[in-house]
Amino acid sequence: MPTILESDGQFVTGSVAALPFWELSIDASQSVRKLLDLLDKNVQVPAVLVLEQEKLIGLTPREKVYEKLGRPFGVELFLKMNIKQFYEMLKLQTLVLPSSTLIDDAVKTALMRNAESLYEPVVVAHPNSYFIISMYSLLMAQQEKLQDLYSEVSYFSTTDPLTTINNRRGFFDTVNQRLAMIRYLDLEYAVLMIDIDNFKSVNDRYGHIVGDEVIKSVAQRISTHVRENDVVGRFGGEEFVVFLMDISKESAFDLADKLRLDIASLFHAINGFQIRVTISIGLSHSKGANNTLDKILSEADQAVYVVKKMGRNKVQMWTENLKQPRQTHTIISVTVVQSEAES
Ligand code: GH3
Ligand code: MG
Ligand code: MG
Repeated sequence: MPTILESDGQFVTGSVAALPFWELSIDASQSVRKLLDLLDKNVQVPAVLVLEQEKLIGLTPREKVYEKLGRPFGVELFLKMNIKQFYEMLKLQTLVLPSSTLIDDAVKTALMRNAESLYEPVVVAHPNSYFIISMYSLLMAQQEKLQDLYSEVSYFSTTDPLTTINNRRGFFDTVNQRLAMIRYLDLEYAVLMIDIDNFKSVNDRYGHIVGDEVIKSVAQRISTHVRENDVVGRFGGEEFVVFLMDISKESAFDLADKLRLDIASLFHAINGFQIRVTISIGLSHSKGANNTLDKILSEADQAVYVVKKMGRNKVQMWTENLKQPRQTHTIISVTVVQSEAES
């Protein structure tokens, strides 16, 4: 006799009640031939519920019925038998789950059965009726849930929550994919390192929340200047990085300068304030496999540093002569002359 884990009538989101089901039943007093007819007429249905005076006593899975009847000896005897006897011969343990059982719990419970029963469908108990659900739809539903979860985790681990552009990890993941193609095709590319100028004063004047909105608005604006294959990321604070794919040095500079001018002329309308900021951009350009990403980023970073020293709101292309000069130590020989007064 099947045992119902717990009776309920609730529809729970993500529960087995949402899965496709069949409601095909036969009375236990009928003959096995009738059961076979029923299975033949409903080729999609994986099992038939067996009822005894409207009470569920179990289910006969199609596979098990065919397996038993497939044995040549005594088939005629089986066909005349009543379903209750036949069902008892199959020695099945029907798994009945309350309709509120969550998909994950249903899969766990269903997989805990012995290996032979794993392909058997599961019965779902609604308040006044029973339905059959297939193991296939149960596993598919769990697979879809896991896929959604995976997509969500992957989105949140690569996306900056404030601006919804790439975070550092998302930026590196995507750029490394692009670089593989760049190296293979020996394409040119560029990196822009962008830092908002005097941003502390924006926070001081309008508050941190308004400051956040300015960062968001600048991120959106940057995104409008790039092409589909380019990659925009936020490297923390008010610093952004842009990877430009398949672009000459001159075009990269033009794009950066257009972006700078665009930002400088834009008023961000936030909480009734009209706020204008400028940005400093460091640019580094390379081709194919000539450079590592780390080196290109560090060059663009050094170029921003130079812009900041020169007074901000400018684009600076990295060149060899921007390299930080090595600290040289000049030894100055000092001759100590004792003053007459001391001696
Ligand atoms: P500079 O022109 O030299 O870049 O001046 P700056 O004031 O922008 O200086 P710096 O880059 O050193 O400082 C950035 C400031 O940005 C520090 C911090 O107050 C602010 N900031 C960093 N992250 C956030 C953020 O997520 N939200 C807000 N509102 N402010 C931030
Ligand atoms: Mg900064
Ligand atoms: Mg800054």
